[in-house]
Amino acid sequence: MKVKEYYKKLIGKAKELRFLDTISMLVGWDYEVNLPPKSVEQRSEQMSYISELSHRELTDSDNGQLIKQIMEHPDYETLTEREQRNVYIFKREYDRAIKLPVEFVKERAAARVKSIEIWKKAKKTDDFKLFLPALKKMFEFAKKHAEYLDPDAPVYDTLLDLYEPGMTVAQYNSIFSPLKEATVEILDKIVHAEKQPDTSILSRTVPKDIQEKLAHDVMPVIGYDLQRGRLDTAVHPFTTGFYDDVRITTRYMEDFWPGCFFAVLHEAGHAIYEQNQNPKWKYEPVGGYCSMGIHESQSRFHENTLGRSKEFWKFYYDKFKELTDEIFDDVAFDDFILAINKVEPSLIRVEADEVTYNLHIILRFELERDLFEGKIKIEDLADTWKDKMHDLLGIEVPNDTLGVLQDTHWAGGMFGYFPTYALGNVYAAQLMHKMAEDIPKWREELSTGNLDGIAKWLQKHVHETGDLYDAPVLIKKITGKEPSHIYLVEYFKEKYYPLYC
Ligand code: ZN
Repeated sequence: MKVKEYYKKLIGKAKELRFLDTISMLVGWDYEVNLPPKSVEQRSEQMSYISELSHRELTDSDNGQLIKQIMEHPDYETLTEREQRNVYIFKREYDRAIKLPVEFVKERAAARVKSIEIWKKAKKTDDFKLFLPALKKMFEFAKKHAEYLDPDAPVYDTLLDLYEPGMTVAQYNSIFSPLKEATVEILDKIVHAEKQPDTSILSRTVPKDIQEKLAHDVMPVIGYDLQRGRLDTAVHPFTTGFYDDVRITTRYMEDFWPGCFFAVLHEAGHAIYEQNQNPKWKYEPVGGYCSMGIHESQSRFHENTLGRSKEFWKFYYDKFKELTDEIFDDVAFDDFILAINKVEPSLIRVEADEVTYNLHIILRFELERDLFEGKIKIEDLADTWKDKMHDLLGIEVPNDTLGVLQDTHWAGGMFGYFPTYALGNVYAAQLMHKMAEDIPKWREELSTGNLDGIAKWLQKHVHETGDLYDAPVLIKKITGKEPSHIYLVEYFKEKYYPLYC
């Protein structure tokens, strides 16, 4: 058989898996958004059935055979770069799935459910000791997972690669260490600046219906297509779906309107990335997002680079005032900009501003790294957390609820995930730097409400490239430079020094 025929078969399989994936996302969305209170069990059964079905489809031994027939075919090299990448991604997913024994996957899934339950209790009662045995278990599962995938590689490298293919501990170190140093310095300048924002603006009461109106107004402005998407309410904002059906959620806090507004910009940034995937590659492995880091770069770009910029508000502030009735009529433009860009060390990652946010992530990265390298013990995690918060952000952590117990990731066994959040900021700044070279007037365009150039640039360079390259390669292809912290540091200085100093 010709290599193209084998290849076609493989793409057919990939399409089926993508279908299952999109169905499972839709069912998951419904679980978070619409589920009647007594339907949890039935829905959980449905969800676990779909995920078992996907696993079975992916690990089908025919797939292994098919991959071999393609890769060992004398005409393999006649496949295009895109076709070879499709085979590569399919193989990567297949290998990751078949290397894990079914028993291990089941055991871990059960342990995860329990661990999250215990974590919730421990967080509520500020009891790290209660959580410790479950945490240890999840840590061991993560180690085992990595060993199954690659017994020779350092454990943490393997885990990092699961969420951000192509990234290693060494690469993260080379970006995060200098970023940490520079950020601490910038932060010190900002917190000691004489000018400080009046943040009472942020907690003025804005009724839910007004916040909803605002959200619906701003989503199309930044390019989120509501004919192929929708906004709903959920406890934690998220984005789900693919291409022609990408949905986002937010939550409404009447005494903290930015909690909704900027979450909508953030999630819409994720959604635009999914909606703008290359239609010609729709069901192919390359026709999906590149990595968590690149995904986060798009959400952060829309939330912060655009959404908290002076230029965005130059054209949007009047509309904002109009839509919020008279709530902000007395607020001067500059005071508003300073308030939405407040920088202040705080305890909780998800509430952190864009400058301190990366320090929260670097703290988690360093703890994970040192745990897997055996330099610290899990027992000491809560105390080491407190020490690091003191060193990095200069604040005291009063209890573990506001410290090591705040995030669900470790309870769910997701070691290696956190770093992608900060990497998203690093990528966003590096992309912005290149975009500014290509479109020197992008800020002027933005300030008149013209986002076309920006949207087209992102679509062409980032969105439509899908998963054709690993993220570090993609960044180098677009910007000509290796991923680096310097653009983010430069962005912070150029933005925050004039604001504060
Ligand atoms: Zn995000």
